[in-house]
Amino acid sequence: MEGIAEAASLLRACRRILVFTGAGISTESGIPDFRGPQGVWATVDPDEFTIDRYLRYPETRRRSWQMRMNSGALDAVPNAAHRAVAGLWSAGKMLGCVTQNIDGLHQKAGLPEEAVVELHGNVHTTVCLGCGDRQPTAAVILRVDAGEDDPSCLLCGAILKTAVVYFGEMLPAGALEEAFDLADRADAVLSVGSTLTVFPAAYVPLKVARSGRPFVILNMGPTDFDHLASVRLESPAGTALPALVAALA
Ligand SMILES: [Zn+2]
Repeated sequence: MEGIAEAASLLRACRRILVFTGAGISTESGIPDFRGPQGVWATVDPDEFTIDRYLRYPETRRRSWQMRMNSGALDAVPNAAHRAVAGLWSAGKMLGCVTQNIDGLHQKAGLPEEAVVELHGNVHTTVCLGCGDRQPTAAVILRVDAGEDDPSCLLCGAILKTAVVYFGEMLPAGALEEAFDLADRADAVLSVGSTLTVFPAAYVPLKVARSGRPFVILNMGPTDFDHLASVRLESPAGTALPALVAALA
């Protein structure tokens, strides 16, 4: 496959690769991306999903829970690309994985929790905005499915929200710091399935790239920072990533 050999020769000597992932690594698991022609934002107005509106309007919360229930993210299973990332970790060549995804598929594929930094949270956990209680989202979805369209906390009655970052909301405490720390210590960065258009997340791979360390981009379609890439691979992640990891092992 074009570019794989070049990327492999660039990364072969690396032992601290930082893997940065976006929606494109999970599309082959049936989770739609956000910005593509079939993406979530093609049919849903992102302005609807700000934290302000979520707190203010029961209708926004109802729509949000319906979207969670129907998105497929809760039941999705990892694909070959997630397994390849876990394989890279097992091979001892990886420093960690910083992801923009909320689907938890890296961990489901076998990447240890401590190797993953989730910049935008995780949909599998739901938090009470009153008492801070945390519970599996699956338990809340059961209540939604049973007819509670805007379920509230059973302990204190406050609003429940999945532990994902809404527009206008801060990133999880410490996550960005941890991600930048990995970027400082990485000897290369491999960006998979991200258009590198969402900030501050995109600053993480850019920090590595701008210091002159190898920057490999694997994405279907252009990204905003192709001009900085050492190698660019235009291929589905589920095909190219296993090939690249095999070439490195
Ligand atoms: Zn509560």
